[in-house]
Amino acid sequence: MTTCVPDLGALERVAEELEGRPMSQFRTVREPAAELERQARELGADELAQRAVLLRAAVLLRLGRTGEGGQLAHQVCSWAEEHESPYVQARAHRELSIFYRAVGDFSEGLTHAVQGVSLLAEDVPGDVRARHLLSLSVALEEGGSYEDGERRAREALALAATAGDIELTLLVLNNMAYSAFELDDEPAARALVQQMREIGARNEHRFGANEVDTMARVALMGNGYEAVEELLGPVLADQVLANESDAIAECLLTLALARRQNGRFDKAQEALDAARTLCADRELAAVNARVREEQAALYAANGLFAQAYEEHRAFHNEATALHSAQRDARARAMQAVFEANEARRATEHFRELSHRDALTGLYNRRYVNERVPALLADAAARSRPISLAIVDLDHFKRVNDTFSHSTGDTVLQHIAELLMEAADGPAIAARMGGEEFLLVYPGVDAPEAVQRCERLRLRIRAHGWEPFTGALPVTTSVGVTTAPEGRGTFTVLLAQADRNLYAAKRSGRDRVMADVCVTAASE
Ligand code: GH3
Ligand code: MG
Ligand code: MG
Repeated sequence: MTTCVPDLGALERVAEELEGRPMSQFRTVREPAAELERQARELGADELAQRAVLLRAAVLLRLGRTGEGGQLAHQVCSWAEEHESPYVQARAHRELSIFYRAVGDFSEGLTHAVQGVSLLAEDVPGDVRARHLLSLSVALEEGGSYEDGERRAREALALAATAGDIELTLLVLNNMAYSAFELDDEPAARALVQQMREIGARNEHRFGANEVDTMARVALMGNGYEAVEELLGPVLADQVLANESDAIAECLLTLALARRQNGRFDKAQEALDAARTLCADRELAAVNARVREEQAALYAANGLFAQAYEEHRAFHNEATALHSAQRDARARAMQAVFEANEARRATEHFRELSHRDALTGLYNRRYVNERVPALLADAAARSRPISLAIVDLDHFKRVNDTFSHSTGDTVLQHIAELLMEAADGPAIAARMGGEEFLLVYPGVDAPEAVQRCERLRLRIRAHGWEPFTGALPVTTSVGVTTAPEGRGTFTVLLAQADRNLYAAKRSGRDRVMADVCVTAASE
């Protein structure tokens, strides 16, 4: 084992490969995803680390460890939202859709599935879009919107086929066939199964348990008992690949049902016994309840009505217990997610508080120091102007001295409100300390910045101060500066604005002073 650190590009490729790995191999993703996360963190590659966490979440969700998987998916989703990473966000929404469907909240499942599709960029690979569309299709159909669901499935199918992804193509067809079966649309179901068979044959694909179960159910729609035997007989002989933990048991149940309907009761019992053993081995409570239901029907078919009655009662009890167990599991999973969300909200709340000035509610200096350099970088990257203005109260000491400190505070709060009004859109208003404020105007050039500050100055002076300061006027001096193409550091710009402010004070206060032009005091 080597200890050299791989480069970012190599890790990107690992992530892509893991994200694109076929569903049937989901168990093989776990360890490489954990390793990817470790290496990404070592390199400080946050987004890659989050993609790795999401891969782990996906495995947990498919293993039935729903609460843990949902919690991780929520964390990644919040991270992606905060860091404006739409690709990761779209993927996280898709996993959240799977989570909510697993806990039985179909409307949330649908909401997340929609976001999983709408956040994808135009240029994502076709197989990625196809998977997201397939999830949306399933979520729509679960909510009863079969037509919309089918439309999405058809889009997914076209993309999967174009991408040449055989497993994904078959997965979409399988879902479509199962939907047609549930809708009792035999011709459509048959056509889809036929399509699956043709693609399977062309690509020497070996169908897994989910697929043969769908095919068998469709065959059963037309009493095709021989076809069912042919499809599901090999399951009894342990010759079919299981893609999900309960898929084989489902197959055995379908086989038992077909044999009973065909009057071959002994053979039906054989399949049912195998299903029961499997359910006990793998703790498949949901399928086991249905095994009992089928057993009751089989007893009845054999004329054993007392046993049928007993078995039906056992089925009923198990199904009821199951529902409450499912409710418990659902409550636990939701609780885990809820707690994670609460913790995140609390953190956000504290972070927000730490960015605000307590007296005025305006942003504080700490926030400005964090935020403005990023705004400058953005302006520079897009060659856009950005303007800064320092607003300082004139002779504020007089207010404190003539009236009281608390009157001074009230004046500051009113000023803050007027500043907030002046900082609409992407602009920021902050209190830098004392009676000094900062306005940041992204995208605003020098003439417009001067205009805005001038309007603010007049607005402040015309404010109804009389109830607080009597005859004493409240006015401000403003120093403005502009970085025409976002060039310059925050420190340099702030110093320039401060020089302009000083000039405004020196030339008589109650005025706006910019880099070149001066506007005279008074109206
Ligand atoms: P200039 O026109 O030159 O700016 O004069 P000024 O009196 O406004 O400036 P100076 O810097 O001399 O005084 C600022 C005053 O602001 C001093 C301080 O008492 C007051 N001040 C600072 N922070 C607060 C506050 O939070 N509440 C109140 N009420 N007053 C404050
Ligand atoms: Mg002052
Ligand atoms: Mg001052």
